[in-house]
Amino acid sequence: MAIDDAFIKAFRTHRQRGDLFHPPGREDNGLFQTSTIGALMEGIYDGEVTYRELATHGDFGLGTFNALDGEMIAFDGRYYQMKSDGRAYPVSPDAKTPFAVVMFFDPTVKVIWEELIDWKQFQQAVDKAVPSRNVFYAVKVRALFDYVRVRTVPRQTKPYPPLVEVAKHQPEYTHEGVEGTLVGFRFPDYAQGLNVAGYHVHFLTAGLDAGGHVLDFRMRDATIDIDVTSELHMEVPECGDFLDADLSKDQSEDIHRAEN
Ligand SMILES: [Zn+2]
Repeated sequence: MAIDDAFIKAFRTHRQRGDLFHPPGREDNGLFQTSTIGALMEGIYDGEVTYRELATHGDFGLGTFNALDGEMIAFDGRYYQMKSDGRAYPVSPDAKTPFAVVMFFDPTVKVIWEELIDWKQFQQAVDKAVPSRNVFYAVKVRALFDYVRVRTVPRQTKPYPPLVEVAKHQPEYTHEGVEGTLVGFRFPDYAQGLNVAGYHVHFLTAGLDAGGHVLDFRMRDATIDIDVTSELHMEVPECGDFLDADLSKDQSEDIHRAEN
């Protein structure tokens, strides 16, 4: 069986679209997002939402920290901060975030895939299998990675440069022959600007000590869990630079350059 067929089969176990989301008795808590990727692109790197508050909306997801101090990944009830040295650290509940998306992960689709698969094949297989490209998919993967290439954004000082400038000098790290976890989302094309259209995934080693924002990988022995939701609750800042930022322009090109 090809990986495409494995995903299609997994999604088809939900015979009707109606029970694609959550079966009766399992509440869909949906996604919670603070601010927008578009604001982050414009250098709005300070938010008012603490990790203490964020944790009330979910224990699974990704994002960043005030002053753009690294990449955030959360799963199994724990949050981690992956700083520009590529290492992972525990997150203080008092730390704040300018952008994050989280949820209480409750997967309804599972695929076990032992053979080698790369980042591009993974995205194509999921794209081919999903019953709709217009809803939200959360993905968690536990696998052995031949290699995984990540970046971690470095802490910025004011005046903040736009994200596309930061991304030009981003530290990148390649981990080879490691076990680890991917956490990410597939957002619809129409969500570009609010979030990243398509895939946005972060990585943490099984030792919970290193990782970052995923640029590329090749993996095997993958256990892939997917949670499908139709709900997105978004809150934008009520104070600070966000209110005065010009978020009217098309940022698709910059988002693609900074996030892919
Ligand atoms: Zn990221």
